[in-house]
Amino acid sequence: MHTGLYHALDFTKDGKSLDFLAIPFSIDRSPYYQVKVPVCRIRNGDGPRVLLMAGNHGDEYEGELLLGRLFRRLDPARIRGELTILPVANAPAVMAARRRSPLDDGNLNRAFPGDAGGTPTARLAHFLEHELFARHDVVFDIHSGGTSMAHLPCALIERQGPPDRLARALELMRALGMPYGFVAENGALAPTSMAAAARAGAIGLSGEFGGGGTVTPDTMRLTARAIDNLLMAVGVTQEPILEAPAAAPAPMQLLQLDSHRQGIYALRRGWFEPVVDVGARVAAGDLAGWLHDLTRLDVPEEALRFRESGIVISRRLHTDSEAGDCLIQVARPVEEADILARAA
Ligand SMILES: [Zn+2]
Repeated sequence: MHTGLYHALDFTKDGKSLDFLAIPFSIDRSPYYQVKVPVCRIRNGDGPRVLLMAGNHGDEYEGELLLGRLFRRLDPARIRGELTILPVANAPAVMAARRRSPLDDGNLNRAFPGDAGGTPTARLAHFLEHELFARHDVVFDIHSGGTSMAHLPCALIERQGPPDRLARALELMRALGMPYGFVAENGALAPTSMAAAARAGAIGLSGEFGGGGTVTPDTMRLTARAIDNLLMAVGVTQEPILEAPAAAPAPMQLLQLDSHRQGIYALRRGWFEPVVDVGARVAAGDLAGWLHDLTRLDVPEEALRFRESGIVISRRLHTDSEAGDCLIQVARPVEEADILARAA
C-alpha cells in the first residue's frame, strides 16, 4: 500500500475515461499522500494503439495544453483503435513549473527503465516502460526547450531498433509535418522515453516544439498539426481534430547531433550573449557569441566560436551561466539515405 504504482484502467473498455496513476509517497503535509498522474483513455474497437504524452518535463507546455484539449474534444466515435493520453506525465514537475519533480529531483526523461521500488519518478518510469509503452504501437512524447532554452522546432526520433522499425519511425516523423527532424544517437540503454519505447517494442516519436517556458501561436499551431498528422498517419483519425487542415508543409530537413563538438559549453561562470539564434546556418569558426565576466570588468569578453558547421538547434536563454551549462548547439544536416545506411 505504501509503495508501487496502482491504477484502475481497463484497457479493453470502449469509450472515453479519465483516471489516475497513483504513486504512494508519504510527505510532511500528508502521510498517506499519493502522486496522482491523470491518464486519459479513448477507445473504439481494435486498431492502432497510440500513446500521447507531455509534461515529461514540467515546464514544456505545448503538449500539455494540446493533449488536454484533444481529450476534451475527441469523441470516441471519431477514432479507430485506442489512445492513451498523459498530458502532465511528471505531474509534480508540472505543478511546480519545473523540468524535474520537486519531490525527488527526478528527471523523468533520464529515469528509464526506472525502478518499481524507487522514488516516485523512478516508479513512474518503470510503469511507463514495462507496462504502458508495451501496450502501444506508437509513443509520441512532446517536449520543448523548457524554461532555460530556445529550441529550433523539430521532430525527434532516436536511432533505435532494427532497420525496418527505424524506417517506419522516419516515415512517421516526416508525417508530422515539422520543418526539421532530428535523429538522436543515445544508444539502446539510454534513460530516455524514446529508448524506453524501443525496449518496450513501440515506435518512439518525440520533438522539441517550442521553448522558454511559454507557448506562442506559432508553436501551438505546429504542435497541433503534428498531433493531428500523426493520428491520421497511423489511422486513428480520418481528419484533423485540433487544427484546420493545412497546406502541405515544406519537406523536412533531417538533422543529427552526433558529436560533443557540436555544443559550446561554459567552462566557468559567465554571462552569455549569443550573436546568432536558432535556425541560423553557421560554419566552423564562426562566432557563436560572447561570454562576459561581470566579476572582472577589466577582462574582455571571451569569443565563443563554433567548432562544427550546421544549423543552430538550441541555445541557452538564461544569460547567467555556470561551468557545464550548454550555451549553444549546432546540428548537422543529413539525408535519410545516410541514416538508413548506418542502421543497416
Ligand atoms: Zn523536455
